[in-house]
Amino acid sequence: MSQVAIKRCKDYNTENMQRAVEEAVGLLGGIEKFVKLGQKVLIKPNLLSPRPPEHGVCTHPEVIRAVIRLVKKVTQDISVGDSHGGFEVISMDNVYEVSGMKAVCAEEGVKLVKFDTAVNIDGIPFAKAVKDADVIINVPKMKTHGLLILTGAVKNMFGAVIGKHKAEAHFKHIARQDFASYIIKIFMHVKPVLSIMDGIVAMEGDGPAAGSLRNAELILASDDAVAMDVVFSELAGVTPESLLTTYYAGKMGLGTSSLSGIKISGEALRDVRLKDFKLPKASFIYDAPRWVIKIFGRSVRTYPFIKVDACVKCRICEKNCPAEAINIDKNEIDYSKCIFCFCCHELCPHNAIGVRKSLAGKIAGFILKVRQRKKNGD
Ligand code: SF4
Ligand code: SF4
Repeated sequence: MSQVAIKRCKDYNTENMQRAVEEAVGLLGGIEKFVKLGQKVLIKPNLLSPRPPEHGVCTHPEVIRAVIRLVKKVTQDISVGDSHGGFEVISMDNVYEVSGMKAVCAEEGVKLVKFDTAVNIDGIPFAKAVKDADVIINVPKMKTHGLLILTGAVKNMFGAVIGKHKAEAHFKHIARQDFASYIIKIFMHVKPVLSIMDGIVAMEGDGPAAGSLRNAELILASDDAVAMDVVFSELAGVTPESLLTTYYAGKMGLGTSSLSGIKISGEALRDVRLKDFKLPKASFIYDAPRWVIKIFGRSVRTYPFIKVDACVKCRICEKNCPAEAINIDKNEIDYSKCIFCFCCHELCPHNAIGVRKSLAGKIAGFILKVRQRKKNGD
């Protein structure tokens, strides 16, 4: 039976953090259950873009410090690494610096590795640093995601592939179902032995980069990344089947995809639910009944737009758009080219790419809301 441990932790204070991580992993049987003496361990945070810890976009460096200190009890061969979400303009050096990862790794005396050399497996260029590790410890951030509703433990392994391939993957797998299947294909090859989720400050609303911060004050730990996502979705009030990565992973036997097969320890789920957790604007479409889609068709959608007043013309969105649909000089997005991957929204460091519902989307959203209220008897 898969197990998910839940511990409360009110802030990123080093000692509190260490205690929470240690106790959560302790509930699973202790770090020795996952890492053996002398093994080469890669700690894989979520480092989407060069954002400081207080923005709540990247895994907090104090969580990584706590994981490093815990792993050091068993082995000294530890490295930390990730690849960011773009392929141009953004440098990994800058991401490591701004996210606080460089400082923590230097202070703790562990290697910070770059995912710049690939090993091709099944047509996927995995980072050599990932494939060279004996053990992967996955340290995702608790956040929402415009395309997949939530981004948790399974989606975090998308970062195990190198640079430009991520944009190509978006371009080749435009439909949400295809993209989720592709994430699962990656996950199959780089299954972490242990996942520890940073849910101290979570992100709700239009995540994974432009949502609002929510003090969830939680650390989750699990031997099963799929089960961890099930618990996260339960906490956030999302049915686990709505998370396509969970659904496909369950179908393929890569983890436990239903709550009934998961042993929860530490806090009880009912005591730590994230009441009224806000989901991304796009998410209503994914649960829309067939008749709504039948009436409104593909015009029910959300789309990105440039907030001209907030844009500083850094061109990160333009250079990293897989469809080359953005013209920053003209403040324009060509929707005939756009594949609605929302990479621009994820990568803009100034939250200058907004997300808006189409008119049909607004009408469909209104109908669904009225139906939901009637159903709830409001
Ligand atoms: S929208 Fe954001 S990423 Fe794009 S150019 Fe403007 S500030 Fe840079
Ligand atoms: S404009 Fe934004 S959402 Fe559209 S394809 Fe480019 S990066 Fe993706």
